Parts: sequence; C-alpha cells; structure tokens
Amino acid sequence: MPLSANNPDRKSWLHVDKNSDFPIQNIPFGVFLTRDDIITIGTRIGDTAIDLGALHQLGYFEGIPLTEDIFLQDTLNDFIADGRKTWRLVRNRIAEIFDSENSALKNNKKHKEIVLFRLDEIEMQLPVHIGDYTDFYSSKEHATNVGTMFRDPDNALLPNWLHIPVGYHGRSSSIIPSGIPVHRPQGQTLPGEAEEPIFGPSKLVDFELEMAFITTDANDLGESIPIEEAEEYIFGLVLFNDWSARDIQKWEYVPLGPFLAKNFASSISPWIVTLDALEPYRVEGPKPVKPQLKYLQYKGKKSFDINLEVSIQPQGAKETIVSKSNFKYMYWNMAQQLAHHTVNGCPVNSGDMMGSGTISGPTPDSYGSMLELSWKGEKPLKMKDGSERKFINDHDTVIMRGFCEKEGTRIGFGEVSTKLLPVFNPKKSK
Ligand code: CA
Repeated sequence: MPLSANNPDRKSWLHVDKNSDFPIQNIPFGVFLTRDDIITIGTRIGDTAIDLGALHQLGYFEGIPLTEDIFLQDTLNDFIADGRKTWRLVRNRIAEIFDSENSALKNNKKHKEIVLFRLDEIEMQLPVHIGDYTDFYSSKEHATNVGTMFRDPDNALLPNWLHIPVGYHGRSSSIIPSGIPVHRPQGQTLPGEAEEPIFGPSKLVDFELEMAFITTDANDLGESIPIEEAEEYIFGLVLFNDWSARDIQKWEYVPLGPFLAKNFASSISPWIVTLDALEPYRVEGPKPVKPQLKYLQYKGKKSFDINLEVSIQPQGAKETIVSKSNFKYMYWNMAQQLAHHTVNGCPVNSGDMMGSGTISGPTPDSYGSMLELSWKGEKPLKMKDGSERKFINDHDTVIMRGFCEKEGTRIGFGEVSTKLLPVFNPKKSK
C-alpha cells in the first residue's frame, strides 16, 4: 500500500510553522483530554490537535473498515492491534482531509469547531496501555563507557555484548508522559569505601537519552518473529527518558542487572511518530564488529537518522543543551531487538514498549547520560546560569527533543520534559 501520507510536496490548510516537528507528513498518534473532559485519540498538524474520534463520527473515515469506537478510547492499543494496513489507510486519509486542495472540512465551520483544538485546550495522556516494557542496552559507545567506569577499561564490553542485543524486563507501571514530575528516589547505596550499605536519597540521579518503539500483536507463545518481518510489528516511536539512580544501580546490579535504580520512573514524549512517517530517514547502521548469528542478520537499511538533544533547565533559569546525539549510532537496530526478543517464543503484544538503551555517540558531547557526560562526576558541566552539574539536582527540568530532516521536510517528536522533585515527603504533600 502506498504511503501517500509521506508525499513531501503536500501542504496543509492548517498553519504549520517552518520549524515545526509536525508538518502534514508526520501525522503522529496520541491520546488527549479535551476542554470538555473527554478522552479521545488524536493527531496533530502544526500546533493544532485533531480529535480523530469526532472526525470518525462525522464520517470522514468512510470506506475504511474501522469499528465505531476505535478512536473513542483512552489508549491506542486496539487501533495498533488492527495492524499496519489500517494505520496506513488512516494516515493517508488524514493527509487527504487536511490537504490544502481539499476544502470539505476546511470550509465546514461547524465540523472544525468539533474536531480542532489549540494545544492549550488539551492535556496529553499516556498514548498506550503498556502491558510489558523491555529495555535494551544497544549503544556500543554507552556500553563501553559504562563498562570502563564500572568494571575494567581493558574489557569494557562483556563477551556476550557483540553477539546479543542485551536487555532486561522493566516495569511498565512507572512509565509516564511528558510533564509529570518525578521524585528523587531513595534506596540502598554503598558509599565510597564503606563496607556496609546505607539507606537514603539517591545522590546520583541521572537521565538516559533513549528512544522507545511500540509494538502491535506480533506472535503467539512459542512463535518467533523472523528479522525480515520484525518491522511489520513496529507501530511507532517516542522519545524516552529512562531515569536512573547511579549509586543505587552500582550497589544492586550484580548479578541480575537493573532493579530499583531504574524502575522509579521513565518519561515518554506523548505523540507516537509512526515507523511509516520515518521511512525517508532510513540509513545504514554501524558495521558488525563480529559476525552475528543468522537470526540477527538483516538486509537493507534498518537504522534511522534521528537527531537527538538533551537540555537541563535549572529552576528559574534558561536551559542548557548538554548532549547532541543521534539514533543512528545504535549498534543493534529495532528489527534485531525484536527478532532476538521473540527467538525463544516470548509473545509480544499490542502496546508493548521497547527502550533502545542509552544512545551515546562517538564524541564526549554526544553521550546520552550525565554519568558519561560528567564522567562519574569528575568533569562537571557548566550551565548557562553559572552553576555546575555532575548529575541532576532537585527542581531541574530535563528536556529531550528529537527530529529528522531531509530535503526540506522535518519530522519530529516534540519533547519529553520532566522536572525532578525532592524526595517524596508524605507530611509535606498533605
Ligand atoms: Ca535504560
């Protein structure tokens, strides 16, 4: 089926700023609460949010096999479960409805009042009910940096790393949309040369710059997904800030890997940009350093050129960009991750979320965490307000942004912005 929604020459009758992440070629999907307190599935063109539930009720999706309530839901799971053919039909139709040559909705004032919202009239929600969340560890630069700091510079990558897209199962219960603040976690740490652990607030709260992909129903128990089919089951991507407490992590992670250092919060950008919209931005990934087993071998371009950046905004001050990275640096791509995840027959469902792992590039200014940017705190970063950061301070806001750009078309993700609050104090919050 053609991806007519991606036509770079198409213009919309809705206003779109030149540098907008959301031109008519993007058409992401999200869930929002309207000014009338109604939850609906929607999309966005420029700074206009579009109620897809209302558009469907008004007959604009006629001819596409959709259930009546497919967009009148508080999650995208059912729509995602309908599969790639439906996603494409709907994106293509939305592109037609808002094409500058099409005046059907453009000239219908009454319909426009029902369907269109300003961004300040809506409140973005978590777009999917995330059944399961898996986090990979797929940036060679990040794994090398962390291995160098936490273990042994001469053997920074563990022997399995070049053969397996390493990952762990996380908690979906603490995944939150942009804008929801996070409390500094407490836990066990082993400070300095101490022999016994102590309990208290984490002193080393960090972000991890990641992207996450969301799957559709893919396989039954016992079945695996061949790598050449894997992308059929990927609906789209979001920006993903995988909050981490480095001091808790260092003490707890042996031998089973991340636990409480990672599951207190992960923040996502609320608009899911479809894999279809990212088609024009495919690039070659890094060449394998060692031969990979057959089920992980792929043909064609499976990496995506997505510019990423992270800013820290201290309370009441301007933000400072602390990292510029790119999704294309990932050593293991999404198709490899999904093929590996299911090679043992583990089922993947609609709405599952897979984090990429911290996306670090080759240069020190492209590292995807404060742990690496400040090198364990040895090289503090200067903020625009004159203060320094080794890790994240209370009341700092961490903002991640991402976009692709080619031949004048820019497809972006907006941002994921999260404020770090002090340790939760039950007395104070009452
Ligand atoms: Ca992570």
